Amino acid sequence: MDSLLTRIAEQDINLVTLNSQQSLTLWGFIAEHFTESDCEKAYALLMCSEFEVQSNKTRNSIVHLQRALLLLSLPQDSELILQVYSSLSYRYTDIGEYQNALDHLYSLSKLAVEHGDNEFYIQSILGIGNLCSIYGDHLKALRYYQKLDALSSSIKSNNLSLRYRLYTVACLLDLNRLSKAKKLLEECQIIQYVSDDAQLVAQVQLYSAKLLRLQNSPQAALNQLIAFKREYSSIHTFPWLNKLFSIETAYCLIQLQRGELADVIISHQLKQTKKYSQGYYIRQLLDVKSDALASYKSFSEALLCEKEAHSLTVDIIRNFPINELGNHSLRRLTRLELQLRLNISESENIKLKKVSDQQKDTVARLQQDVFHDSLTKLFNRRWFETTFVNEIKPSLEGYQLLVIDIDNFKSINDEYSHLTGDVILKIVSKILQESIGSSHYVARYGGEEFILIITSNNTKHGEEIAENCRIAIANFDWRETLNERTVTVSIGLTKNLKNEDYKATFLRADKALYQAKRSGKNKVCIY
Ligand code: GH3
Ligand code: MG
Ligand code: MG
Repeated sequence: MDSLLTRIAEQDINLVTLNSQQSLTLWGFIAEHFTESDCEKAYALLMCSEFEVQSNKTRNSIVHLQRALLLLSLPQDSELILQVYSSLSYRYTDIGEYQNALDHLYSLSKLAVEHGDNEFYIQSILGIGNLCSIYGDHLKALRYYQKLDALSSSIKSNNLSLRYRLYTVACLLDLNRLSKAKKLLEECQIIQYVSDDAQLVAQVQLYSAKLLRLQNSPQAALNQLIAFKREYSSIHTFPWLNKLFSIETAYCLIQLQRGELADVIISHQLKQTKKYSQGYYIRQLLDVKSDALASYKSFSEALLCEKEAHSLTVDIIRNFPINELGNHSLRRLTRLELQLRLNISESENIKLKKVSDQQKDTVARLQQDVFHDSLTKLFNRRWFETTFVNEIKPSLEGYQLLVIDIDNFKSINDEYSHLTGDVILKIVSKILQESIGSSHYVARYGGEEFILIITSNNTKHGEEIAENCRIAIANFDWRETLNERTVTVSIGLTKNLKNEDYKATFLRADKALYQAKRSGKNKVCIY
């Protein structure tokens, strides 16, 4: 496919800058007039189908995928065929054609095994488990996911790693196995930082909120949902996610005795949901609507909802290939899985073992990456805003916050080079770490800014540490790195007030820092 992409690039077309409608038109044109082989044409059609999904044209997308499939042949095109099977299975699931979805998932699993591709194999099992969940059999879904436990350590893609966990979490929540769900969600909360799939990240938030609600904290759950929607307005581009967020919001509201508002939200969603294709979502929406109605005693309307939901359930069940998802199919997959392991040649097996050894504590490693700054090895801003705020702060009597900013750092970069700037950042980090001892914390907040957290309320002690840091940096022997010049820092210091949010504390410390800068730099100011 590289040659196709190179030819496109030679036409001075920048694919990245196009919106989805423009991309769709372009790839349609490429498919018909610009490709030189069936395989290239199939690739262009696959691209069309991706952009069609983004424009809510799922049926067109399926037509293009089917056309692509006709152009491809085994064994040379196996990679593209796997991709097409996988896309088709998602599309058919989206529009409620479960038998077709299952057929493609089976084809996907079989081909993935033949080609020793365990990531596509894992995708196929996740898809099959998802069908079980749609049918309402979460236990069976869980059994499918558990089959992947042995293979999951070899997952290289962060997105797939996250997806595998999220599917399992969804099941555990539906089965009310909250402590297991919580543990797995904690892993998801870390992996999400290295995932570039906005839909998966949104699901982490969604399930975290659902967990809170199921643990009887509906207000906290609601706050989390609202905060997330405010921060990630792009969630509107995924209608299915929007629905799930609305459903979760409604359940929280019902628990908070605000069933009427829940009803308004759900009725709005119902209006926007297409009847013919999205029975699964409509059923969920109707379920929550009937709960909402019942909560403010509109029992007859609630009953109507229940009836409608029931008839949809009957429809779904009638069209559902449930017999093909039973124990027989699980056994069939066990056989496939055995074959998968045999087909991964010996050398690949060794490779796989290496990968799995490396990834045994993926989560621990990610935790290291996620909460540390790679240049200075200090904690980073994310650590402060999550680990410190949620896990460390609650056990402290109080704390003082110092915001430290290197003076005139830009001119050091300009005069000596960015590399020297980096060395300075490392040295400053080391000095700070050595000046504070082990009971306090230091983090790189960003750029040339650091924060120190003094874990006590004793302001005299805080001032002393701030002054020590300032002097230690100013008096350091900088000749080796900077010849004539020295480095100084300005520091803003403040105390966290009782019950005060960390953001307010930070703002005050930052104001104090500004004061220190304005009054000549190389100073500590207290607010
Ligand atoms: P002031 O005394 O008012 O703080 O002035 P300043 O020059 O320190 O502040 P300014 O915000 O203008 O410049 C900060 C500079 O820090 C700009 C940016 O290029 C540099 N910087 C940010 N991150 C890094 C980094 O990781 N390495 C290096 N070498 N420079 C960085
Ligand atoms: Mg700065
Ligand atoms: Mg600065």
